[in-house]
Amino acid sequence: MPEREMVSVFLGLGANLGDARKALEDAVTSLGSLPQTQLDACSSFYRSEPLDAKGPDFINAVLHVKTRLNAFDLLIACQAIENLAGRVRPYQNAPRTLDIDVLLYGDAQIDSNFLTVPHPRMRERAFVLMPLSELAPHLVSPSELIHVRSQTVQKIPYR
Ligand code: AMP
Repeated sequence: MPEREMVSVFLGLGANLGDARKALEDAVTSLGSLPQTQLDACSSFYRSEPLDAKGPDFINAVLHVKTRLNAFDLLIACQAIENLAGRVRPYQNAPRTLDIDVLLYGDAQIDSNFLTVPHPRMRERAFVLMPLSELAPHLVSPSELIHVRSQTVQKIPYR
């Protein structure tokens, strides 16, 4: 059977409990070690105020990977990494040790109970659009960035 083609995928990472920076760094390592997957680039880390939630500030980043995993297997793998980081879901939008969202899976449009791609809220979130525009400026329009400019998101200079 011919090998599946590599698909270009953008993942959104966030954490606001415990050592959030370390959680993101570990997640980057884990995601880069997934089978049939290679790490292409990681954005800068950003600090953002919680949106529609309470709790400490988030650390966020966007990761570009290329993978032969299908989108569902990729999400299952992301959830396993979240769980290993101690993720619990006591209520919606609860603070979290690690959250991984599949933002874009090539140009696929998926709408199932388990997975919606493109991620339905990614274009409303400065903490996604700013790091995404760093990695793939062609995927974020200036007007989208203007639309979310009231959200407090700061690039962390060094990590
Ligand atoms: P969260 O609490 O933010 O981790 O939400 C995870 C839930 O969203 C899970 O039930 C996933 O199956 C679902 N989900 C749907 N689409 C996506 C996506 N694009 N990326 C991550 N989780 C998704």
